[in-house]
Amino acid sequence: MSNLAPYAANDEESRGRRYAEPKPAYRSEFQRDRDRIVHSTAFRRLVYKTQVFVNHEGDLYRTRLTHSLEVAQIARTIARAMRLNEELSEAICLAHDVGHTPFGHAGQDALNECMRDLGGFEHNLQSLRVVDELEEHYAEFAGLNLSFECREGILKHCSVANAQALGAVGERFIKRQQPGLEAQLANFADEIAYNNHDVDDGIRAGLITVEQLYSVPIFAHFHDQVRALYPDLGGRRLVYEIVRRMINLLVTDLINASKARIQAAGVKTIDDVRLHATPLIGFSEETHAFNRQLKVFLRDRVYKHYKVQRMTAKARRVLAELFDAFFNDTGLMPDEHRTVAESGEARQGKPGRARAVADYIAGMTDRYAILEHRRLFDPSERT
Ligand code: MG
Repeated sequence: MSNLAPYAANDEESRGRRYAEPKPAYRSEFQRDRDRIVHSTAFRRLVYKTQVFVNHEGDLYRTRLTHSLEVAQIARTIARAMRLNEELSEAICLAHDVGHTPFGHAGQDALNECMRDLGGFEHNLQSLRVVDELEEHYAEFAGLNLSFECREGILKHCSVANAQALGAVGERFIKRQQPGLEAQLANFADEIAYNNHDVDDGIRAGLITVEQLYSVPIFAHFHDQVRALYPDLGGRRLVYEIVRRMINLLVTDLINASKARIQAAGVKTIDDVRLHATPLIGFSEETHAFNRQLKVFLRDRVYKHYKVQRMTAKARRVLAELFDAFFNDTGLMPDEHRTVAESGEARQGKPGRARAVADYIAGMTDRYAILEHRRLFDPSERT
């Protein structure tokens, strides 16, 4: 890519792949990463995994797949405007949720609870595990063999104990260093995408109203602006005109505030970025506050809404029961997963068995988990 900032990630200075491969003929290394992610099985499964609203509740809600696409396009805009590596940002964003369980955060919490004394479960760590170990595509290696920079971006957070087992990609959590700017901006693109699409989905689902959202200052500000321009506008068009302005403000502020921070820090190279005491990508103080108020509103009014809570409770129960059934009798799992559980147990005892069960469950789509649950617990269902 031409015209990259000196502190952007670039092919020539990549820290490479775990298994050395010849350079791609006409793609960049990060384009190759992106293409491998798009061709992966885990990526395709995202279409039937819940973001906030369960997929079968309605066809128009975001799923993990459409969420990941929204995140990637926001990240590409930011990367390009800052002369960062757009291809790397896109790859990180498309992969950032591939380790998610069925049923959104409820699923991850349930699985983590089941795995509490058996090594734990964390969806972000699982995303790295999917691209490093679980995808089965290539003759020469397990996983997708992505570049260091892409793997570094996928691993957003990590405990020191887990980091120690991860080799080079875990080092920054031990040394308290930063990831590259493309990884930093991916986190913000994720947040900008979900805060705004959850406003849209929340209204669509009837959990929140425009009147309630008016208590959020950033929403009220753009509501008044849109109404001044279009006094009669209502319904979906009003909502979308407000949401697009909120996204625009957040993206523009992020670009400007981050550029200013990079300049003030005197950062010249990607290593300067990694060694800087704090992340360099971020909102201005004022916009950070705007964004926080929106997040708090969504937490209280959408994520804690009783209808979402009911779904959460059901999801926890389904996943906990699946885990118990498979962990207590691995013979209930399809052969390929049972074999992995047996060899895991031979190597590492119970945590090895549990990991194979967690990998099987985490890989399920919402509807597959529901079907498996029925096959196990409903005697009238075919097995
Ligand atoms: Mg996400």
